[in-house]
Amino acid sequence: MRLFCLSEKPDETRVALTPETAAKLIDLGLEVGLQTGAGRRSQYPDALYREAGVSLIDDPSRGLAEADIVFRVRKPEVSDFDGLKANAIHLSLLDPFNAPELLEAAASRDVRAVSMEMMPRTTLAQKMDVLSSQANLAGYFAVIRAAERMDRMMPMMMTPAGTIAPARVFVIGVGVAGLQAIATAKRLGARVDAFDTRPVVEEQVRSLGAKFVKIDLGETGQTDQGYAKELTPEQIETQRKGMAKVCAQSDLVITTAKLFGRPAPRVVTAEMVAGMKPGSVIVDLAAETGGNVEGTRVHEEVVTDNGVTIIGTANLEACIPHHASQVYAANLANLIEHFWDKESKTLNWDLTDEILKGCVLTDGGQVVHERFRTSS
Ligand code: NAD
Repeated sequence: MRLFCLSEKPDETRVALTPETAAKLIDLGLEVGLQTGAGRRSQYPDALYREAGVSLIDDPSRGLAEADIVFRVRKPEVSDFDGLKANAIHLSLLDPFNAPELLEAAASRDVRAVSMEMMPRTTLAQKMDVLSSQANLAGYFAVIRAAERMDRMMPMMMTPAGTIAPARVFVIGVGVAGLQAIATAKRLGARVDAFDTRPVVEEQVRSLGAKFVKIDLGETGQTDQGYAKELTPEQIETQRKGMAKVCAQSDLVITTAKLFGRPAPRVVTAEMVAGMKPGSVIVDLAAETGGNVEGTRVHEEVVTDNGVTIIGTANLEACIPHHASQVYAANLANLIEHFWDKESKTLNWDLTDEILKGCVLTDGGQVVHERFRTSS
């Protein structure tokens, strides 16, 4: 089988194949091609791919036309499916809740579109889980970005000129990104508070040496995939009241609260921001899905009247593209390896398998995923 990895659009720094993952796929028996220069922005030069046995292809339409499997990071344009073979497998982020036209296009072109966001959150599928691998890096980098923007120190310092108190950091939403943000802020010496609507998280927060903020919201819970359930308007109001004081005393607030497939909850209001100290910073990791913070603007830094900087991040992991590509590419290669049949040197494409059932959206000319079937 032939695999081809495309160069991303100019605003994306990552690449979906690294020389290391390419070598692993070639060992399995795949022929691997890469659009020339695709790894340049993440510091994987063409020469390293060539050494690994990858064919460098200048013309992407040629690479696509020959490919049985396509690797990419960001969701494609509808027209990107045009030049693919029937039954070609296309692995990428697909943003399926917001791009029904992509699913229709993939189905009508007989492309097998795999949405990496829909990977089941199970132990077996963990090695293929791009949401986790990327959120982990984003959580780390949110703290680094904020530390650089803050006008104060993170760690406590006892100096002859007096003692500098440690920064107070409040992490709202403790999934994969939130846990890494807590760990990073702790490593930098901050004093960390955290909150999540899923009570099971309290233990994990404590194990990282942070304090869990207790707010009685009544029944909250999580879905069978481990995702938070949406709160009622009354619960959100109670949550805001419970968090306002913690925001007011924090130097840095990092929000990561998300609801899978739905807009992010607005957990920090303009009034709460107005109650924060001048010079404090908010990093809103949910900016792309509507934002957790009133006043967030995607890709922008807003300074409020009372001197609070709100950083509306999107795709923060792309700021550290070398490692983000390393783990993203490993996730995709792990999926191929998991379903690879060594004898026939093809994929065991069994749509009754729990993993494929979870992430394959189109096959055989139709939308096959139960959650999106009506959108075809
Ligand atoms: P996510 O990005 O969907 O959401 C981030 C966090 O926001 C979650 O912890 C969620 O509970 C929280 N949240 C939602 N609404 C909130 C609100 N109003 N206030 C505060 N917090 C709010 O989550 P994620 O990081 O993708 O993780 C989702 C779940 O999947 C977690 O339970 C995680 O541990 C689990 N997970 C399991 C595996 C696995 O077993 N393979 C892998 C990764 C994640």
